[in-house]
Amino acid sequence: MKTKVLNLLSENSYVSGESISEALGISRAAVWKYINILKKEGYIIDSSTNKGYIVLDRPDVLTSVEVSPFIRTEFVGKNIVHFNTISSTNTKAKELAADNCPNGTVIISEEQTSGRGRLGRQWVSPKCKGIWMSIILRPDIPPMEAYKVTIIAAAAVHGALAENGADSLIKWPNDIIMNGKKVCGILTEMNSELSKIHYLVIGIGINVNTEDTEIPEELKDKASSLKLETNRHFDRKLLLGSILNNFEPLYKEFTSTGSIETSIAVCRDHSAVLNREVILLEGNKSSTVKVVDINSNGHLLIQESDAVREILSGEVSIRAKEGYI
Ligand code: ADP
Repeated sequence: MKTKVLNLLSENSYVSGESISEALGISRAAVWKYINILKKEGYIIDSSTNKGYIVLDRPDVLTSVEVSPFIRTEFVGKNIVHFNTISSTNTKAKELAADNCPNGTVIISEEQTSGRGRLGRQWVSPKCKGIWMSIILRPDIPPMEAYKVTIIAAAAVHGALAENGADSLIKWPNDIIMNGKKVCGILTEMNSELSKIHYLVIGIGINVNTEDTEIPEELKDKASSLKLETNRHFDRKLLLGSILNNFEPLYKEFTSTGSIETSIAVCRDHSAVLNREVILLEGNKSSTVKVVDINSNGHLLIQESDAVREILSGEVSIRAKEGYI
């Protein structure tokens, strides 16, 4: 009901309490109660005895009602489940996926208290400063190919940042980099049988308006935010819409043709590692290698002393010879 009241309000003209109460079949007192709830959530609403209510400002939150106007997809993000705080959007997504939520459901939280990176590493997710989200998908593809959706997500985030005026590079396979520092990480998790995927959860964490003081000291040399790298504030709603709008067509290319050609082209054209000498970390082994290509399967090709070796994502981490990347 609160959302219905909000949807009837306007930013351009006053709407009378009477018309809202008639449209929704609730009392004027009930309308007033919902207006007060909305004010508590951060909506600035002016009320005038004669004219009614007008929305003067909206909160910076990624609720369904706030982000839906920016989403132009068929199914990705049509169902949004929003939290103010949660342990991890990927963990919640797995619960909802096991409960049969619709394909393309997106879980968003303003804050994560136990956000995760790969190998159970911590992901710092301060309140309302980033986009902490997970997309639930049920592709009819072999489990062996699930990693390709990480590549698709990286291409989609890169495209969305570009649309919103932030120049970034993709650090194969799952990080987005600005000026050598990580502004986004992607963590794909899967529930499957040997030959069938039950569901995939694509976790995307983007440091959007994170301030310097919110980045832990030990991460300062490798983590940054869009705001810190560009000196301007980003609209999280627009950015979230762009990510989903970029993601869906790339994902559909994969599920309908089996190819991730377009995503690979983006990852090649904007790679942080291609044609560079980097340090490859495999388990506790580390070696210096030259990256020579990303092939059509999304694998990294590296030049070893006398042969080119294909590296699968998930097996390795990459670092620069000096600094993070
Ligand atoms: P990598 O691919 O760099 O090996 P992961 O993808 O596993 O790392 O991401 C987790 C790591 O990212 C953490 O161990 C930490 O060093 C770093 N990290 C944690 N939170 C953030 C954040 N908000 N922004 C950027 N980096 C972060």
